Amino acid sequence: MFRVRIRPITPRKSIRKPAAVAAAAVSDIRQRKPLFMSEKLFRETLEPYLPSGTAHIIAKWIEDLELRIVLWNHRKTKYGDFRPARNRGERNAISINTSLNPYSFLLTIVHELAHAAVYAKYGRAVKPHGEEWKQEYRTGMLVFIGRNIFPDALEREVAAHLKNPKASANADVALEKELKKYDDKPDDGLVYIDDLQKGDTFLLPSKGVFIKGDKRRTRHHCTEKSTGRKFLISGIARVKKVK
Ligand SMILES: [Zn+2]
Repeated sequence: MFRVRIRPITPRKSIRKPAAVAAAAVSDIRQRKPLFMSEKLFRETLEPYLPSGTAHIIAKWIEDLELRIVLWNHRKTKYGDFRPARNRGERNAISINTSLNPYSFLLTIVHELAHAAVYAKYGRAVKPHGEEWKQEYRTGMLVFIGRNIFPDALEREVAAHLKNPKASANADVALEKELKKYDDKPDDGLVYIDDLQKGDTFLLPSKGVFIKGDKRRTRHHCTEKSTGRKFLISGIARVKKVK
């Protein structure tokens, strides 16, 4: 019997404080007072994290939507989010992790800006990732297509992804893989299960040793070597090939 027991790409819950730099330069989420920033200040704050030639566009959207930005160093649980203001006079806020590579940062911030735009038009009357959101997100992202902002291979994946955007870039395996190439990570010797051959043996860190079986949509039937039990494991799980 197959059981879905392992979801290695699901991040663990962790409670972290926002980056100190963000608290000083942009906003402090503990602060209930509204904090109004100029478009110029938004641009200067976000410029280091975005692909070149994009910060002024993003800064204008943020100012047009009258948002507040909260920067986090890194959160395992999410890349970013959108939160409507809780109090009168406060701005709606988007948060984003500065640990993202510039392309992931751009996709994430446009994702959250699309939430803010949908909220401004419809409030809570529509689904978070429904047609209205898809429309805003697609329109927002298309501004950056065909302008030499993305490397060619990545732009192809972004364009394909925009045909039917998913709630998370994570859900789009081809795009996620292409984006990962720009992550500033040391080579850990790990590979995607997708890139192994059927029958290969691999170690899934902290889970065990498995043998790769047939692919089913985005996941693979894998057999745990020691017990013979079957699992479905995501093709973008990072594993170590075992001889
Ligand atoms: Zn979302």
